Amino acid sequence: MKALRKLAGGEGHVELVEISTPSPGPGQVLLKVKSVGICGTDLHIWEGRFDKVRPPVTLGHEFAGEVAQLGPGVSGWQTGQRVVSESQAYSCGVCVYCGQGQSNLCPERLAYGYGVDGGMAEYAVVRADGLHALPEGVSFQQGAMVEPLAVAVHAVLERGVAFDHGPALVSGPGPIGLLVLLVLAQAGVPALVCGTSKDQARLDLAARLGAGEVVMVDRQDLGQAAQEFTKGQGFAVAWECSGAGAALSAALANVRRQGQVVQVGLAGGAARVDLDQLTLKEVVLRGAFVHNRQTWERSLALLGDGSLDLRPLISAELPLSHWQRAFELSRDQAGVKYLLRPGE
Ligand SMILES: [Zn+2]
Ligand SMILES: [Zn+2]
Repeated sequence: MKALRKLAGGEGHVELVEISTPSPGPGQVLLKVKSVGICGTDLHIWEGRFDKVRPPVTLGHEFAGEVAQLGPGVSGWQTGQRVVSESQAYSCGVCVYCGQGQSNLCPERLAYGYGVDGGMAEYAVVRADGLHALPEGVSFQQGAMVEPLAVAVHAVLERGVAFDHGPALVSGPGPIGLLVLLVLAQAGVPALVCGTSKDQARLDLAARLGAGEVVMVDRQDLGQAAQEFTKGQGFAVAWECSGAGAALSAALANVRRQGQVVQVGLAGGAARVDLDQLTLKEVVLRGAFVHNRQTWERSLALLGDGSLDLRPLISAELPLSHWQRAFELSRDQAGVKYLLRPGE
């Protein structure tokens, strides 16, 4: 089968190669991959800026497909069934976090696509206990977006402490920021979305997806817009999805006293942040990292009952053989989410 693999460390070394189709071991299932999303992590692996990658390894942690074969001892699934796989390939099962259903924080957590072979291939072997049925009417393309949706659902519904439906700030209108916006809009929370003038197309999309207001911070005064949007109160909660230190500073400056900031974006290193507002206003600052099984169930429920529609975020789906074009489009931010279609 064809698989898009990182063959060695450093920059590049990503190639579409022919490898033998894997077979599922005990507790595993072979999936025929129908659609797989390109994430910032995949781009970082391509560019040689992600040191957790263990080459040679097949990329891709956002994928949906059909059950093709059950490994020994697996029951409860049938061949041909439409499913999504959680992105977590391994957790220890015995640490305090695993014991609390928070395996996203397991120190030994490994994910498909960098620690274990992932979904940018015609077939992928996955854990049977990480599978979820794709609800009827939800396409494989939307299925491939459940992973980033679950990141947003975790950040909003599971890490947005004392979430009180007050006005919200979302900074960074990339795929995760826009998914955070969708989850907020579905919950009836008014949100202001900010980015820079480079994000104009994505901010226009945010406005169509339900943002109450969009602001380009290099052309408009965010502080003034925030005052008007929140009637002088400040935001109840801010979700910082860009990873830029200046954006975290702006979030701290524009939440209300004892407001909350949820940091979702990664800076990739040390960031310069003005922390005084954290102290002066007793702001609650929290991180949000990926998702747990319960988050996937919530996310699929929101898709299954039609509460959320992810299709506006899908820019295009290209054949896996055109991966390089799709990676370049993703890197150049010429859209929001690009998907790959294996098997052609
Ligand atoms: Zn991802
Ligand atoms: Zn663990």
